[in-house]
Amino acid sequence: MATVAAAPAGRGRRRARLLAGAVPLLLLLGFVFLCVAAPLLWGDPASATHVAQAGQGTSVRHWAGTDDLGRDILARTLVATRNSLLLAVLATMLGGAVGVGLGLVAGSSRRLGRLVSAVINVLLAFPALLLSIFFAVLFGLGSVGSVLAVGAAFTPGFARITQTLTAAVVGRDYIDAARVLGRRPLSIALRHILPNIGEPVLLYSTIHIGTAILSLSGLSFLGLGVQPPSYDWGRLLSDGLTRVYISPGAALAPAVAIVLAGLTFNMLGEWLSDLIAGRESGALPAGPPQVSIVDAEADDGTPGDRLLEVRHLRVIYPGHRGSVATPVRDVSFRLAPGQTLGIVGESGSGKSLTASAIAQLIDAPGAVDAQTLRFLDLDLLDRQAVDKVLGRSMAMVFQDPGEALNPAIKIGTHLLEPAMIHLGDPKPVARRKAYDALRAVAIGDPARRYRQHQHELSGGMKQRVCIAIGLMGEPKLLIADEPTTALDVTVQRQILRLIARIGRDTGAGMLFISHDIAVVAEVCDRVAVMYAGFVVEQAPTATLLAGPAHPYTALLVAASPTMTTDKVAPLPALDGRMPSPDAELPGCYFADRCPRADATCTGHRPPLLRIAGSQAHRVACWHPLTGPDRANDAGTNDTRTNDTGTNDTGTNATREEAPL
Ligand code: SF4
Repeated sequence: MATVAAAPAGRGRRRARLLAGAVPLLLLLGFVFLCVAAPLLWGDPASATHVAQAGQGTSVRHWAGTDDLGRDILARTLVATRNSLLLAVLATMLGGAVGVGLGLVAGSSRRLGRLVSAVINVLLAFPALLLSIFFAVLFGLGSVGSVLAVGAAFTPGFARITQTLTAAVVGRDYIDAARVLGRRPLSIALRHILPNIGEPVLLYSTIHIGTAILSLSGLSFLGLGVQPPSYDWGRLLSDGLTRVYISPGAALAPAVAIVLAGLTFNMLGEWLSDLIAGRESGALPAGPPQVSIVDAEADDGTPGDRLLEVRHLRVIYPGHRGSVATPVRDVSFRLAPGQTLGIVGESGSGKSLTASAIAQLIDAPGAVDAQTLRFLDLDLLDRQAVDKVLGRSMAMVFQDPGEALNPAIKIGTHLLEPAMIHLGDPKPVARRKAYDALRAVAIGDPARRYRQHQHELSGGMKQRVCIAIGLMGEPKLLIADEPTTALDVTVQRQILRLIARIGRDTGAGMLFISHDIAVVAEVCDRVAVMYAGFVVEQAPTATLLAGPAHPYTALLVAASPTMTTDKVAPLPALDGRMPSPDAELPGCYFADRCPRADATCTGHRPPLLRIAGSQAHRVACWHPLTGPDRANDAGTNDTRTNDTGTNDTGTNATREEAPL
């Protein structure tokens, strides 16, 4: 029933929307006709002087009367349409071009953004008409001066709306993806930001043409705009007002024209806005997401057994009054070619920021610090060196493919970029590779998908496309940040299998970020567990699942149901909250929630140490779990080893620098 009723209602709304546009469209058509035809049809009566007919009032022959030289005022009003509208469009275009440029800088530049934003704020404090008058005096009288003045007065408004729209777009994953591809800021602005903010800016411009007509008429009325012998509606209004009590038609005709034109463009803007809003509300829902980035260009170095080396990585954000937030406090691991490392942890553990820090995607004022951050032979802490390699050997799959794929760009264009920009492939070669990449991720009919936009694909399909984009760069490292979180369970498993297969087939190393330890276990050789910005445990996947040593890992494993999980008993839950990124504790950050915590835990921070008898199992805990049932083991034996011969709790041990 609901469906049957909804269809006519939807059609009715569409019809009402179209009808609402009929009035402004007809009026616009009329104005366009006058711009073209009025000088031809009424040019003579508008310009020919007849002193004998000077100063006449309204009559059958002269509906709006005549001016001091006997020229027909209605004819002059009609002829002035071209001048008035042309100047308004030019002023809007000028203000739009400069304002959009400034807004893009303010919304996307880290260095200039604040300065430009401050200037915009100051200019917005003044009414546009006041600014127009000020600039008109500055630029001089006449048509050119008035266009420059109104354009300058409109600039802050355009800049502000562009800045706001840009700020909403720059956080999208496809912008990060473009950065990883090595695109320059100007290229990102023109190719990725502008197409996505173009629609609202265009609507804003349409409405502002109406405002420009009023502003330009105002300047001409004040004698600052168009100068004789040229004339526009403002000029005619100014002349007509001197005789308004004798011949009201002389002022009425241009006044009606100004109001009608202003209304037309305002109605047109509103109608277009409604039309777009209606289209968007009726659009297909964006599918589940994910994104990808990529890089290409074969690496001529020898990767050896250290594809990625991370030692003591930190991500720092300055806070208020000198405080500092450190969402990633100490992360170390090493990844070899072909290996898959899963990083798992709850929200706020720092796992996704770790991935962003490796790809140099931490925005200011955030900062990345590390003892070592090396990918192949490249020091990732060297920003210039990173620019040379990003988009070549490192691919990313983001959490939300709907965010990662630019909605304004076709799938094919996304696929072509890595090969054409970084590998230097000619377009036909890149297109062939794109088809191959789509087939590699099990997308049928690649030629058709190539021509589609992201909104035409399902969530799983988008995710496959993102992975295919990653493959276009022949990556050595694939970073997948929660790549299945937004997908339903069936699609999740397909994508996990696909990612695992691609890792095997390409020999690329893979960093797989997830909050779900069961998902990580499906694709990863090793797992690193993060808590409050620290890696608290790291081990081969099977070892970790069979015998977690850190109490937090044990709870994560126990909270992940398996086929043998008791369906009646509730899953274990973790009380309390993770310490905030600006908390500075002397001891273990898990102590508040840990049932095994004691004075040693709260007074001293546990380093990541190798567990005795295991080469690859490391844990940061003074009292790691031992034995077959680690979750229930409350013992405090420290079986970890260090290289000094003793451990910090007094038992014999051999210390080893943690994760590598
Ligand atoms: S160091 Fe202490 S508080 Fe921290 S996890 Fe281990 S037992 Fe718990």
